[in-house]
Amino acid sequence: MGHMPERSEPIHPAYEPVYEVVKVVRLPVPNEIREPDCMIGPKVWVRRRIRRLVPWLVPRQAPRACCWHHQVDWRQAAEAAIRLVRQAQAAGLRGERISDYAIERLDDQGFGDWEQDAVLALACTGGIEPSTEPGAEWRYFEGQHRVAAQLDQGVRQTVVQRWEPFDPVTGLPIRQ
Ligand SMILES: [Zn+2]
Repeated sequence: MGHMPERSEPIHPAYEPVYEVVKVVRLPVPNEIREPDCMIGPKVWVRRRIRRLVPWLVPRQAPRACCWHHQVDWRQAAEAAIRLVRQAQAAGLRGERISDYAIERLDDQGFGDWEQDAVLALACTGGIEPSTEPGAEWRYFEGQHRVAAQLDQGVRQTVVQRWEPFDPVTGLPIRQ
C-alpha cells in the first residue's frame, strides 16, 4: 500500500501529432519540390517568395487543371480543416483523435470527393508536417506541394501537425 511506482526505467515516449493553425506565409519555403513543372521554375519561385513578404503584390491563383494540388480549392479546404480541428480541440480531443473526429464529420460538410480529399490532406494523419528540430533550418517532413499550392492560391491560414513526444504514463509532453 502507498507504494509509488518508480520511474527508474527510461521513458519510451509515445509520439502524437500536435495540431496547429498557422499563417501560410510563415511556413518554411517549400524548396525541395522537383515536379511537376507547374510547381517549379524561377517564375513560380519568385512569386512564392514575394507572396511571403508582400502578399498583396501577387495575384491569387485560381484553382486550375494542371495537377491535383493546383486543382484543389485550398481556401475552401483550409477553412474546413481549420474549423474541424478547432471543434475537435474545443471538445478536448488531441493527437490522432482529431483526425478521427474530422473523418467522422467529413460527410456533413457538403463537399464532393475531391474537396474531401483536400480536407483530409490537411486535417488528418499525414498532414503538413514542418520539421521542428531545434536549431535546424526550417524544412518539411511532409506537405511541400500542399504548402506550395496554398501559397500560390494566397490561402492565409492552414493546419499543420508536429509530431511530439509524450510520456505514455502521464500523458504530458516530454521536453527535449
Ligand atoms: Zn499544377
